[in-house]
Formats: sequence, structure tokens, C-alpha cells
Amino acid sequence: LFVPDDLEPGLEFDAGQQQSHYLAHVLRLGEGAEVLLFNGRDGEWSAAIAAKSKKAVRLKVLDLQRPQPPLPDLVYCFAPLKQGRLDYLVQKAVEMGAGVLQPVITQHTQVAKPGIERLRANVVEAAEQCGILAVPEVREAEKLERLLANWDKERRLIFCDEDASTTNPLPALQAVSEKKLALLVGPEGGFSEDERKMLRALPFVTAIPLGPRILRADTAAVAALAAIQATIGD
Ligand code: SAM
Repeated sequence: LFVPDDLEPGLEFDAGQQQSHYLAHVLRLGEGAEVLLFNGRDGEWSAAIAAKSKKAVRLKVLDLQRPQPPLPDLVYCFAPLKQGRLDYLVQKAVEMGAGVLQPVITQHTQVAKPGIERLRANVVEAAEQCGILAVPEVREAEKLERLLANWDKERRLIFCDEDASTTNPLPALQAVSEKKLALLVGPEGGFSEDERKMLRALPFVTAIPLGPRILRADTAAVAALAAIQATIGD
């Protein structure tokens, strides 16, 4: 269970309404049953159900099971999509090893102001589902030009370019030497010609194709993250 509080042995607190319902009525856990807690900062802790009431399930923190691992050093930059597809894209990015999610506003982005709180909730849910203790950070949306102007030059930006002259991403990825990485996937309408020119001219940018077909933006995200994992690794 994800809990926002700082955890320490002996701490007692009431689980939230949804979590209490899940523990008591879905999992049907009784007093004394043990659960695992995490908050993306302290690591994974065991806790026991101390009491159950109509209002809430009271939990008592026992001890640290797994220390907090570091976040993967991959910044996933994406043009926000319409909500349902965005939920999917965020979930896959978390599963595939993104450590930071950076919404980017490009000329053809359809969603100018993505709901950050919903993105953050999606990230926590994805982390819970796949047992990732280090909960990725979700940053405020940035315009592409501004993001690039303030870019950390030691971080290689891998840019998915559907207009690349080849179709195989692996040679370009295998040539990347930096450990600090970022990935950029465009919006449904793709990058504009100016954006593409600007990106290709930057020394810290590597453009990669993702095969011979045009992929939907959320498909491209998974394909690119898988290609990165297969060549550069976590
Ligand atoms: N401009 C495209 C078109 O022809 O309509 C649409 C862009 S595509 C739906 C969304 C994003 O996914 C692109 O901006 C790119 O970043 C990535 N993408 C999709 N297919 C790709 C491919 N074959 N190679 C590299 N990137 C791709």
C-alpha cells in the first residue's frame, strides 16, 4: 500500500477510506494480518492491522523490509495525450524504467495543460502494481524550446523521429555512451519541421527511428523504452 507518511517502527495510523475498504472488504484481512507499505522515500515496510472499525483500518508499522532503491536515471519527455491514452502511456513509462516524467508542450500537442495530480496518481498506482518502490517524479509541463534551452548537456536526449532515414534504432542507441539519458516522444500530430530541425542540430540529441511504420505516440513510447532497455539497459 502507498502511504504518504514518514514510516517508522511502532507508528500507528488509519489507512485512507479506499485503502481501508480494500483491506477489510476486498482482501478481507483481519486484525494481526500483515501488509507491505511504501511511500517512495523510506523503502518498503511491513505493517500489521492493529484494529478495524466501520470508519477505517488502523495499521501499525513493524519494520523495514527493503531499503529505498534509487530512481532509474531516465527522464521520459512526452507530449501529453488525451486522458485515457495518457494514463496508459504513464503506466508503461513507469513499468519500463522511467525515473522522471516530463510533460513537454510542442507545436502540435493537443493537451496544453495535463492534469499533474492525475499523472502523479497514475505513477503511484503503476508503481504499486509492479512493485516499484522508487516512485518516479512527475514534473510540471514545459515548452519544448525552454526545456532544451535549460538542458543538462551531460544527459543524452534520445528523440523518436518518425522521419529518420533508417528504420532500425539499435545502431544509434548502441553508439550512446552516456549513462544519463532522456527520451522524447512527440504528440499524435508529430513534431513540426522546425522542431525536428532544432532537435537534430543539438549536440546532446540522438534521433532514432522506431521501425518502418508510424506508431501511435503511446506505442512509440513502449517501443523506444524497450529498445533503450535492450541496448543501454537500466
Ligand atoms: N507525424 C506522424 C504522422 O505521420 O502522422 C504522427 C506522429 S506519431 C503518431 C507520434 C510520435 O511517435 C512521433 O512524434 C514520434 O516521436 C513517435 N513515432 C511514431 N512512429 C515512429 C517511428 N516509426 N519512428 C520514430 N518515432 C516514431
